[in-house]
Amino acid sequence: MTPTPKTLWIRHPLGCSDARAAGGVVIRDSRILEAVPAGGTPATPIDETFDARDHVLLPGLVNTHHHFYQTLTRAYSPALNKELFPWLTTLYEVWANLTEDQLAVASELAMVELLLSGCTTVADHHYVFSGALSQAIDVQVATARRLGVRAALTRGSMSVGRDDGGLPPQSVVQDEATILDESARLIDAYHQRGEGAMTTIALAPCSPFSVSRELMQESARLAGAKDVRLHTHLAETEAETAYCQRLFGQRPLEYLEAVGWLGSRTWLAHGIHFNDEEVSRLGAAGTGIAHCPSSNMVLGSGLCRTLELEAAGCPVGLAVDGSASNDHSNLAEEMRQALLLGRLRYAPSRVTHEDVIRWATQGSARCLGRDDIGGLEAGQQADLALFRLDEPRFSGAENPIAALLLCGAHRADRVMVAGQWRVTEGQPTGVDLDALLARHDQAARALRSAL
Ligand SMILES: [Zn+2]
Repeated sequence: MTPTPKTLWIRHPLGCSDARAAGGVVIRDSRILEAVPAGGTPATPIDETFDARDHVLLPGLVNTHHHFYQTLTRAYSPALNKELFPWLTTLYEVWANLTEDQLAVASELAMVELLLSGCTTVADHHYVFSGALSQAIDVQVATARRLGVRAALTRGSMSVGRDDGGLPPQSVVQDEATILDESARLIDAYHQRGEGAMTTIALAPCSPFSVSRELMQESARLAGAKDVRLHTHLAETEAETAYCQRLFGQRPLEYLEAVGWLGSRTWLAHGIHFNDEEVSRLGAAGTGIAHCPSSNMVLGSGLCRTLELEAAGCPVGLAVDGSASNDHSNLAEEMRQALLLGRLRYAPSRVTHEDVIRWATQGSARCLGRDDIGGLEAGQQADLALFRLDEPRFSGAENPIAALLLCGAHRADRVMVAGQWRVTEGQPTGVDLDALLARHDQAARALRSAL
């Protein structure tokens, strides 16, 4: 890896999502030292310049929800064309055989794929802990560190299996003491605090239909004691609402509040089926929402009320969701989906490309409890995504920022994380992509054949 020069000016980009940085940004070490106005020159002496005249500059994109292991079960015939619950029960049987080596290569593939799409902070929600997977999060931390990607990893869990009225098979549920002990161990071992953190750990019981009330309560208590964030799936489908009402006598949000989760420490995946009063309560609490447009369309789950949630005060971020319900991990493409779905839900004038870029950067950062990433101002972490517009799909585009979403940007040319180039000329640095694809394909075949 070439050491970053003392000061690097990403000079005069073709376009920039922040007008205050239209002349580019100056990087020193891991941070943005200065945002340069249009046509301006830096106030700081510059050691090196990167000419960005062919690049559109965005803050590095931030993903807020994923299941890396699902890259091994993309476009899987037995699970096609199903709604959430039957889709899950079909796939649980495959996922129950996942090994640590398979998880490692799945996580590497997903992180590389995200990086190549301009994503600098990845999140993962891993909740499948069969006997063979006790070190799952340790494996993911090691992989993220090797790739140099910023990672918000969550210790997922499932404690209610089929024998007790839940959805998952018994082989992938754990007892609550083990889950909580492991959660505490992972926080103590890996959770970094404060500005520039590269690895964070959050607690993430999978969903109301796969963990007990006690585990939800104890997870909230532990997260409070350790000062880490909470994450779960909520209000994804109407079937989930019916399940909660049948089992708990409460709607999903009432249940969430009753177990001590309604607050600004929490961000929720999907967050679709909320009524007006629930949207207000979520906003007042400052609970974040990870909007997953592709997944919601693939599974026919519904339309997230992004604008109402944001207006109420919720941080709204963007997420690709797991690769069995998307089935890609491309956050640039997800921005296009969010734009189109938002316009279908509301109106073209109400969901702009600027809104969606805000969700994918600052909004996502807020979901993860971060104010040091997601922007291009001085003092922010030097996390950048640079896109070229020299493919046929962009030819003739007048507005370079709008073009990224409307023409369908899908691959960044350069990506910087904490001041280090992690993608150059569309290739991940230090990764043999062909070899990775071969290992990943082999792992996917092995997992399917274990059924
Ligand atoms: Zn999910």
